[in-house]
Amino acid sequence: MSKPTVYADNNATTMVAPEVVEAMLPFFTGQYGNPSSMHYMAIPAEQAITRAREQVAQLINADPSEIVFTSCGTESDNAAIRGVLAAVPGKKHIITTRVEHPAVRNLCQYLGKNGYRLTELPVDKLGQLDLDELRETLDDDTALVSIMWANNETGVVFPITEIAEMVKSRGAVFHCDAVQAAGKLPLDMQKVPADLLSVSGHKLHAPKGIGVLYVRKGTYFVPLLMGGHQEKGRRGGTENVPYIAGLGKACELAGVHMRDEQTRVKDLRDRLEKELLEKAPDASVNGDRVSRLPNTTSISFKYIEGEAILLMLSAEGIAASSGSACTSGSLEPSHVLRAMGVPFTRVHGSIRFSLSRYTTQEEVSYIVEKMVPVARRLREISPFGRDEQHAQK
Ligand code: PLP
Repeated sequence: MSKPTVYADNNATTMVAPEVVEAMLPFFTGQYGNPSSMHYMAIPAEQAITRAREQVAQLINADPSEIVFTSCGTESDNAAIRGVLAAVPGKKHIITTRVEHPAVRNLCQYLGKNGYRLTELPVDKLGQLDLDELRETLDDDTALVSIMWANNETGVVFPITEIAEMVKSRGAVFHCDAVQAAGKLPLDMQKVPADLLSVSGHKLHAPKGIGVLYVRKGTYFVPLLMGGHQEKGRRGGTENVPYIAGLGKACELAGVHMRDEQTRVKDLRDRLEKELLEKAPDASVNGDRVSRLPNTTSISFKYIEGEAILLMLSAEGIAASSGSACTSGSLEPSHVLRAMGVPFTRVHGSIRFSLSRYTTQEEVSYIVEKMVPVARRLREISPFGRDEQHAQK
């Protein structure tokens, strides 16, 4: 019998839902027109984009006119940050956090070395921000605050409504990277006064290479991609009609499955976490376990290497991650866990399991069945595990 394959790396990317593939297919062959053309082939393409814009807007309770299609979450983040700064050239202060995704963090650090003053807010042991510190850091020179809704590595959710209100009350623009939150948490742009919000298709069962930038009506920003009149001049480039149609469908499905995500998927995650904490040696959860995405757990196994765990799990058909997918391939410890002050003996042995609506009870049982002996075996051969004092030197 062949080995089961268990995919528990949904924060890295997700399977494209079969309904999404179906929604995309007509636009590759039969209805492949350019929506800007002046003939009959443009009509179905144009209609598909309009429909998708409504579907995306509905998921986040926004107006369809506020939805701009982009190529990915990274583009949305870059377009938001660069676009706002270009629109308010007189202000030179940017505020972000130490735990942002590289799509925000690396850009802000680059800007911090090129004419801007950058504040990266620290987080506490639970991965949470001190909002008093944010309040004190905001000043008249603050052009933009960019803070994520939910963390990709730990799943920790920030109090975004409170943050957005605070930033707005000081007259700065607020951008939120909601790439991990969209589809997992209800997002309501009527309640959260963020000016801009990034979403990425491949985190919610649409394909890679499609994203959204929500731009609240009246927010002034300079487009990153200047070109044609597409997206009302807010993002040049011929629209990726099949992917846009797919993202629209994925957003509609995310709305339908939201309850499942909050209940069944959360229960699966909680069970996985509980059993691993009980059965594996020296396991602990990273980050706030209350204010957290329902599908994510980041667990540290003390004194063992995350990469070794991943390879052994992979040999058993289990796909997980040691921190962010973008940092795998290097042995650099996760900047998120370091910012939280997780000790080095635990940072290196951290594994992220991220589930989805396709995850089953049997799969969770299989992960526990394989993970516990892997952790025990690696712990036995770890020189650090055998000699705690040595490890702490
Ligand atoms: N922001 C967050 C929080 C993410 O987790 C990711 C991807 O992992 C991105 C941005 C980048 O999105 P994309 O891969 O679509 O460029």
